[in-house]
Amino acid sequence: MVSLKLAAFRHDDRDYCGIVRGAEVFVLSVSRLDDLIARGVAPSEFESGTAFHLSEVQILAPLRPRKNVFCVGLNYLDHVAEGNRTFGRNVQDQEVPVFFTKPPTAIVGPFDDVLLHTAVSAQLDWEVELGVVIGRSGLNISREAAPDYVFGYTVINDVTSRDIQSRHKQWFKGKGLDGSCPMGPWIVTADELPDPQALKVVCRVNGVEKQSASTAQMIFDVATIIESLSQGLTLEPGDIIATGTASGVGFARNPPEWLKDGDIIESEVSGVGVMRNSVRAV
Ligand code: MG
Repeated sequence: MVSLKLAAFRHDDRDYCGIVRGAEVFVLSVSRLDDLIARGVAPSEFESGTAFHLSEVQILAPLRPRKNVFCVGLNYLDHVAEGNRTFGRNVQDQEVPVFFTKPPTAIVGPFDDVLLHTAVSAQLDWEVELGVVIGRSGLNISREAAPDYVFGYTVINDVTSRDIQSRHKQWFKGKGLDGSCPMGPWIVTADELPDPQALKVVCRVNGVEKQSASTAQMIFDVATIIESLSQGLTLEPGDIIATGTASGVGFARNPPEWLKDGDIIESEVSGVGVMRNSVRAV
């Protein structure tokens, strides 16, 4: 399969998906990337011959999954260390990945607003992450076989309400609010990124770089995450895994920094793309 950037987008109130080439997006005859991934055929076979300029369309989150986004916590040593420092705790090296999820209702597009729910949270934080999209169904996938199950990669920001996270003693609620999972701007197919452990992951807030890391710093690499997650748990085409964030998040800063109405979050993974989301208080 040739390397592709696959996007979901809206034009004149109609939803499409397509292949991004340069400044244009070429329309596919399937309306959802989930369907395309599940069918396991080359996306180029669905090209309809129509194209739009990217400036004419609204880019959407590439996937609207039926199930939650799988997430890995504490997957970069420097992020574990900043948490230990801030909370005076001593989380030791994990032997296995920490998993949690974000519900589909949390997902927003790569240029949509991230929501600050002021009635329940005053401590909204950023976490840029490499997102992995599964391409084939699999159970008990070995580390060695894992790359065969990856369809492609995207950018995710695991936006987190820290006050809710600590209040509820468990991560799901503080990481599950509406508008807390911007994803995109598209999926880059795996053949374009043969080494997912050599990507730069960056987050800027109002133009100031807050996080900058290499996926080489992951404690559990993508293949190990897939091996561990799929033990006794079937992964399906279109499943999404957010692989964890590096240091530089707001809670660990001195003084702590929280996102506020009007802030601009830019989330970037090299070779994949950049998302740009405004924070909107609701
Ligand atoms: Mg995270």
